[in-house]
Amino acid sequence: MPDTLTEEVGRRRTFAIISHPDAGKTTLTEKLLLFGGAIQLAGEVKAKKDRIQTRSDWMKIERERGISVVTSVMTFEYNNHVFNLLDTPGHEDFADDTYRTLTAVDAAVMVIDAAKGIEPRTLKLFEVCRLRDIPIITFVNKMDREARNPFDILDEVEQKLALDTAPMTWPIGQGRSFAGTYHLAKSAIRKSDRETELTPVNGPESDAVAGLLPENERATFIEEASLAAEACKPFDLTAFREGHLTPVYFGSALKAFGVRDLIDALGEFAPPPRAQVADTRTVEATDPKMTAFVFKIQANMDPNHRDRIAFVRVCSGKLERGMKARLSRTGKPMSLSAPQFFFASQRQIADTAYAGDVVGIPNHGTLRIGDTLTEGEALVFQGVPNFAPEILRRVRLEDAMKAKKLKEALQQMAEEGVVQLFSPEDGSPAIVGVVGALQLDVLKERLHAEYGLPVSFDLARFSICRWISTADKNDLERFVTSHRGDIARDLDGDPVFLASDQFSLNYEAERWKMIDMVAIKEYQ
Ligand code: GDP
Repeated sequence: MPDTLTEEVGRRRTFAIISHPDAGKTTLTEKLLLFGGAIQLAGEVKAKKDRIQTRSDWMKIERERGISVVTSVMTFEYNNHVFNLLDTPGHEDFADDTYRTLTAVDAAVMVIDAAKGIEPRTLKLFEVCRLRDIPIITFVNKMDREARNPFDILDEVEQKLALDTAPMTWPIGQGRSFAGTYHLAKSAIRKSDRETELTPVNGPESDAVAGLLPENERATFIEEASLAAEACKPFDLTAFREGHLTPVYFGSALKAFGVRDLIDALGEFAPPPRAQVADTRTVEATDPKMTAFVFKIQANMDPNHRDRIAFVRVCSGKLERGMKARLSRTGKPMSLSAPQFFFASQRQIADTAYAGDVVGIPNHGTLRIGDTLTEGEALVFQGVPNFAPEILRRVRLEDAMKAKKLKEALQQMAEEGVVQLFSPEDGSPAIVGVVGALQLDVLKERLHAEYGLPVSFDLARFSICRWISTADKNDLERFVTSHRGDIARDLDGDPVFLASDQFSLNYEAERWKMIDMVAIKEYQ
């Protein structure tokens, strides 16, 4: 009897796209979904990007600023693989959300604009991937436009990212003459993504390849493609999976070139769901018992229901509709009665999801970011990060009578990961912290729209926040006692030290060497 779990897990590919705004992430996503049959018409994702903001008031912010703060997951099938594409917000003010999403993927596609090369946001996101050794496939987009020389681009990736490159395809011409992709190792071509199969050819000089180009460009193409085949690093699966080498594909998401090469590469080379580290053991994806963790909470996906969806990555086994799970943080059981899959424009009840899949679990605040679900085992996944906020504010309420309501609302926002909430030990009003200023706008808008609470923000006397811990509990107590006015507790009750500036942080850190002060906390 075939082992269905192993087979199902083996065909899953869970990935994200990292790029600088405007490089073509949305366009590429549309094309991937189109080939995956998840949507009928390319253009639907974009349409969704425009339409979704009307769904609820707080999303007005996105419309006004022309950015997308909505993160979600899209599942599609192609050539017997099941792909889970996790979308990430493009704007850096929501970086913490993006980083957490990257903890739930096994691979990433790095999209580079062929004219611009590596841009700042690509670099930043790449660094996060490197910390986790996430294997990266590179897609050089917009080859149909004025583009840099392919060797230049490969060089830039190697230099700026310290990452080996292995060109897998070579663009047949570029700009207006861009006519398809030539597969270096396979000696085959694809003239457009409308062709599902590659056509074998007799080397770059064959008429079937060079003949696609105007006379004056043929010699250059033949020379460059031959040089790439001989001189560039060959693809090495182990080096790729360890995050040392990236296979590079050239194309145009808009004009539908090279996207099939990319999707084939994801199926062929990207790793199946990897093992995940928990506090007590490492959990293999093919372990028969279900385990999962929450990496994102999203509210108001459907304004008619005011629901909260917890996005969970299944780490092992199979998650079945109706099953009882144990929530590690509380030890309490929870019934998974309506897990959902997400496609481009709709959601659907998930009867069965396997390790690697990402499903949404509707709930009313039971689940928080970083939570672990199991079939009963007391186990907690490590590694979902919480970043020290860069901006700290006190919330000023216009109507002081509503203080209690504000407290509840802030608690909920913090559970969703919209903001972080810190309760000072000295009993003074709570402080909210965010990584980027736009998150404050979102908070303000949502407090108004959903809770009827008009608020403004006051500067707090602190600007830096660090989680504190010690090997010896007594040391921590001494520190807390002598800094009571500068200590607060986060949502989990963990203590933080609030400093007015970098100088005073350094000063205290120097005086209290036994205190660990960290800017990143991993949810436990
Ligand atoms: P995102 O911000 O990374 O999601 O980028 P978009 O997918 O929204 O693309 C930004 C702009 O570049 C849009 O105007 C797209 O139509 C355009 N674009 C995307 N891919 C290509 C491409 O392959 N060729 C050309 N010429 N334009 C493209």
